[in-house]
Amino acid sequence: MPVEKARAVVIRAVPFGETSAVVTLHTREFGKLRALAKGAWRPKSAFDGALDLLSVCQVLVLRKSGGGLDLVTEACLERRFRVATCLAAVYGGLYVAELLDALTADADPQPELFDAADATLARLSGHRGPAAAVWPRVVGFELSALHAAGQAPALVRCAECGAEPPPAPRMSFGMLDGGLLCAACRRGRRAVVSVSAGALAALRTLAPARRRADAPDPDPALEGEVRAVMNTLLAHVLGRRSRLGSRLVHPPARPRRTESPPAP
Ligand SMILES: [Zn+2]
Repeated sequence: MPVEKARAVVIRAVPFGETSAVVTLHTREFGKLRALAKGAWRPKSAFDGALDLLSVCQVLVLRKSGGGLDLVTEACLERRFRVATCLAAVYGGLYVAELLDALTADADPQPELFDAADATLARLSGHRGPAAAVWPRVVGFELSALHAAGQAPALVRCAECGAEPPPAPRMSFGMLDGGLLCAACRRGRRAVVSVSAGALAALRTLAPARRRADAPDPDPALEGEVRAVMNTLLAHVLGRRSRLGSRLVHPPARPRRTESPPAP
């Protein structure tokens, strides 16, 4: 069996025996695979932290046929995911791993999705705030992952008839239909929410087909609404609510009191 080289993101790592690990890797070359890393967690292991959760690494993998676990024979760390002061960035990184696992099948390479995950983790790693800079990265990755899974939401045309609905302050968004609905198609549908023009514009800006590297981030005030739309949409796609999804909205800053309350 040939040993093959790949770039990988570690999306899950569970102990196996005392010092070994079974890792789930999303590789650029082979897609998702599960592999045994013998002695990965031994002190002074040759893997040297390369197989920690959310690390990006180069691996040598012995591919097993017939459904057995692959074997990681070497792993060389490219970039560790660093936890800094921003909790939202850490949850965002874990959420990237969750979506890579949930939205991809084994051995189905998607290099563009790997590159999106790699770039998103690089931006979130070591992030020291502001937390408001995190959600556009996370939503951008969600839209990339949905696009790769063939489930990108319709953000410009009606998901049902393909007509372009006229601009309006609020538009109908069908969770079961996968995006915008025109007035004619909206009738009688279930699981339809009303999305503001601002939130829709933010989603369009962050979608992979339209994203420009130099585009400014959307208005931070839109975070709550955009997050609610994405959490509901992902829940329909995944068939369950992500435990991390609800943690991705950072608590809004409390208004600072500038004067003391009047004396009674
Ligand atoms: Zn329509």
